[in-house]
Amino acid sequence: MTSRRDIKLYKRLRDAGFRPTPQRLAVYECLLDMARQGRHPDVEELYHAVRRNFPTISRATVRRTLDLLAGLGLARRITFPGDAGRYDGDAHPHVHLRCVDCGTVTDIHVPELPDLLEVVAARSGFLLTGHTLVFTGLCPGCRSSRREAHATQAS
Ligand SMILES: [Zn+2]
Ligand SMILES: [Zn+2]
Repeated sequence: MTSRRDIKLYKRLRDAGFRPTPQRLAVYECLLDMARQGRHPDVEELYHAVRRNFPTISRATVRRTLDLLAGLGLARRITFPGDAGRYDGDAHPHVHLRCVDCGTVTDIHVPELPDLLEVVAARSGFLLTGHTLVFTGLCPGCRSSRREAHATQAS
């Protein structure tokens, strides 16, 4: 089942110094698929998703692979308040918004973010290895259902 996409992934991983075993490729591919859907899975979610194709894969392998990918800059480990670690297959700097009502996490690409990181690095003297920038609020769906609730109460 070697597709062109697999070969591309294989090269990318190998160039990053990552031995691309079929299990590792499956974890990475799954993480990328989820990132494309705007999802930020935890180890458990990925484990269950990868197991559909690799029934023998262990949670430990999934976790180790994710940490390797994060270490190579191919994925990001993100922590939301009150939540176990999650992983993001989108390694480009972006901002996360989390809805306080439904828990939805939304990605926003802000072109100014790399500039902000530069400013932070320059002012602090830090060599930045990561960042977690999470905004909280009400997602558009929850905002409109709150408005509807208010409207019903008012009438
Ligand atoms: Zn919401
Ligand atoms: Zn994200």
